[in-house]
Amino acid sequence: MMINSIYTHKEIFLREIISNASDAIDKLCYVALTDDKVGMNRSDFAITVSVDKENRTLTVSDNGIGMSREELENNLGVIASSGSYKFRQETEEKDKKDADIDIIGQFGVGFYSAFMVADSITVRTKKYGSEQAYEWQSSGADGYTITECDKEAVGTDVIMHIKPDTDEEKYSEYLESYRLHALVKKYSDYIRYPIRMLLPEQKVKEGSDPEKPEYETVEEMKTVNSMVPLWQRKKSDVTEEEYNKFYSELTHEFDKPQRTITVSAEGSVTYKALLFVPSSRPFNFYTEGYEKGLQLYSAGVLIMDKCDSLLPDYLRFVRGVVDSPDLSLNISRELLQHDRQLKVIGQNLEKKVRADLEKFLKEDREDYEKFYENFGRQIGYGIVSDGGKDSLKDLMMFYSSTQKKLTTLKEYVERMKEDQKCIYYAAGESIAAVDKLPQTELLKDKDYEVLYLTGETDEFVLQALMNYDEKPFRSIVDGDLELGGEDEQKGDSESAELMQFVKETLGDKIKEAKVSHRLKTHPVCLTAGEGFSFEMEKYFKNFQMPEPIKAERILELNVEHPAVKAMAAAMATDRDKAALYAKILYDQANLIAGLPLEDPSAYTDMVAQLMQ
Ligand code: ADP
Repeated sequence: MMINSIYTHKEIFLREIISNASDAIDKLCYVALTDDKVGMNRSDFAITVSVDKENRTLTVSDNGIGMSREELENNLGVIASSGSYKFRQETEEKDKKDADIDIIGQFGVGFYSAFMVADSITVRTKKYGSEQAYEWQSSGADGYTITECDKEAVGTDVIMHIKPDTDEEKYSEYLESYRLHALVKKYSDYIRYPIRMLLPEQKVKEGSDPEKPEYETVEEMKTVNSMVPLWQRKKSDVTEEEYNKFYSELTHEFDKPQRTITVSAEGSVTYKALLFVPSSRPFNFYTEGYEKGLQLYSAGVLIMDKCDSLLPDYLRFVRGVVDSPDLSLNISRELLQHDRQLKVIGQNLEKKVRADLEKFLKEDREDYEKFYENFGRQIGYGIVSDGGKDSLKDLMMFYSSTQKKLTTLKEYVERMKEDQKCIYYAAGESIAAVDKLPQTELLKDKDYEVLYLTGETDEFVLQALMNYDEKPFRSIVDGDLELGGEDEQKGDSESAELMQFVKETLGDKIKEAKVSHRLKTHPVCLTAGEGFSFEMEKYFKNFQMPEPIKAERILELNVEHPAVKAMAAAMATDRDKAALYAKILYDQANLIAGLPLEDPSAYTDMVAQLMQ
């Protein structure tokens, strides 16, 4: 069954069931803050784990909010009912790992993981404020039944009927208290409510001789988890392993976080925060399915699972929790969004994350580059849309033509030649594609460093920054490179007639044809006029724009190149042939710039014509 493949470790089912119980208590705690009728204090809440070996049942009970009949139907019925179950069966065929992640993400199979160890599950539950209790019963795939039942206290009992042992799996271990104890410690130690269970205890037998005491084993109800949330403890008291474990519970990611950031603030707003930078990009990061936000607690009570006003958009990859005793709890969650205190916390957190990334870059370059691969684009967004020009520019990285690796703007400027006025860059789909651009030839020749922009939004970032350290950015594909020392006019007048011919032949396709001073071995290249660049044109192709975004095309010709010389010669003898050459050269310039041909079949016809 699909359920078995979802997690490699069957044992995590207990964590899932306990975490549901804890969530249910959170919810009732929240109600209790504003509703005196609940009549319970925080200390009254608990989760109990108990076993009945004879009947092979393991029960997790909570005195949380409980479920109504509709909620049982909607929350626990959904996966067993046809639609989603069918989906799970279909994904079973696909790559197992992918399917697993998908399902956890979409349906939250937490509760269903109990079917890995139980052949049937009974849920007895009474919702807070309701008179009637209900019993949900299911053996997994075959669906479920819901009936009325008697239950005195508000809350939920999840009764799992443990499977018989097989040769491979000793399911009976989930009926052993030492094993359950270990599992609670391992996975659920920070659950904020006591998790209680009967544990064997060696005791001195009553009435036995104090000189020669006799011992007996009695069962005692004990709290097994340590409860104190990780973020309330001093960083020096917490091991890296504990942080990692907490991270995977919070995010359901299987790897370790790349950065763990702890914040403890006192002053206008008092709060503690524990933030993580993931070491991989979530599979749904660029989809609507990904929700940004931090868990928000008020003095240990969860009030919002994904509070998005705590993070600016560009930091949407940051995960973690914020806990503040100052937050006013009895306002609605919508209002909370605009709470002034949240704004203050959010601004502080942004600063903390930024400072940590700066430290990261300085101290651990290699790993920072990995981070940059995952989330570098977000830093760019921060510059373009979140007004983070000054604060984020030093976190950007680009591939350098001379260093052959990622570099920062600061490093680039430090390496600039004495007479160099601009920071040169070229945008394209990949490093290899940019490297082959004809326009890079001259700069390579002169040994100037060029930044290769391969990220979709990199060019927008440089546009927003305008300059770095007062050095303007200059695309090598654009007009004047300000290299100086060039005799720009030489040869231009001799070729004026040829340029005019090319412009007339190509008409509106180009703004201008001109003699190139940057080409060495290539016959032609396209440069963009003022306004949009070619990369922007390509980028905006993906969107429905009211008017298509088009870059101005300037065709540069290398008059020293044999192909261009041949065109010039043909112009005197056979103007049709010369026109054919001009069109072919123009198409070639498009191809090498990575732009689509307007009419590919016309191009192949022209080349074929030449070959005949
Ligand atoms: P998830 O917890 O990821 O939402 P689950 O399958 O574990 O998914 O649980 C589905 C839903 O069933 C929960 O969101 C919750 O509303 C409800 N639920 C599960 N266990 C309990 C419980 N002990 N008390 C109240 N509600 C519960």
